[in-house]
Amino acid sequence: MFYLLKCFIQMKILLNNIDLNEALFGKSNIGFVPTMGSLHDGHISLIKKSLKLSNKTIVSIFVNPKQFNNKKDYKRYPRNIKKDLRILKRLKVDFVYLPEIEDVYKFANKVKIKLKKQDKILCAKYRKGHFEGVINVMTRLTQIINPSKIFMGEKDFQQLFLVKRYIEKNFKSKIISCKTIRDKNKLALSSRNILLTKKNLKKAGQVARNLILFKKKLFKKKDLKNLILIKKNELIKKFDIKIDYLELRNTKNLRLTNKIKDTKIFIAYYISSVRLIDNF
Ligand code: AMP
Repeated sequence: MFYLLKCFIQMKILLNNIDLNEALFGKSNIGFVPTMGSLHDGHISLIKKSLKLSNKTIVSIFVNPKQFNNKKDYKRYPRNIKKDLRILKRLKVDFVYLPEIEDVYKFANKVKIKLKKQDKILCAKYRKGHFEGVINVMTRLTQIINPSKIFMGEKDFQQLFLVKRYIEKNFKSKIISCKTIRDKNKLALSSRNILLTKKNLKKAGQVARNLILFKKKLFKKKDLKNLILIKKNELIKKFDIKIDYLELRNTKNLRLTNKIKDTKIFIAYYISSVRLIDNF
């Protein structure tokens, strides 16, 4: 770690809350980009937006154990801190926060976290406790950092939706949503993509392209619910994937709908043992 500290003089690396409080003292208009590391162009787009809109930008890298409902998944989550720090330095980020678990969890959370029944949909239905873990860490990081703006990706739309509600109700910080960044095959960038074989990466791109095209065609169609069910079965057969959900929902309230206005198609699926999510 000493080696890393020496290499990144302009960009301050904050390893605990004492360093963080000292570094952020008196700073205003702080932009915060929370991440779990293994940074890619999706994260970079959030960071660039923060650099543009904030006086100071702080990026956190923290693989939050509480949001993994599966220990094995937590253990095999990709980590690459050296490469991440190189990327952040190149972007001229002001601060990188690399907390230990106790920095985040040693104090009582002032926000009570309980999902409503109507929130237990999509990933909340399939990954029990996941969003409680995400909201828990996000409300804690917000208390620690006190940012003006928090930059989050539409790639994780349900996360963005829920975190925005909890954060903006309890704190002054505003959540800024950022568009999904895709690779040349239209696959949404994700740290988990590293876990895919070349063949499965290609397949995941084909699933994404298939759904982008499908969504375009839905604008002229009726009985969307049935068409989505047909599409779900087609994808399972064509690509040999296991689908947790494929649903059309209103983006304002995340309710199921049969009308195309203000909607997104949400998907979560497994290619071999890797779970991917996306929305179109
Ligand atoms: P993660 O490190 O996966 O927890 O993601 C950190 C932030 O980056 C979250 O707000 C994500 O929604 C966002 N993000 C992840 N992938 C993408 C992407 N492909 N495009 C835009 N934002 C993304």
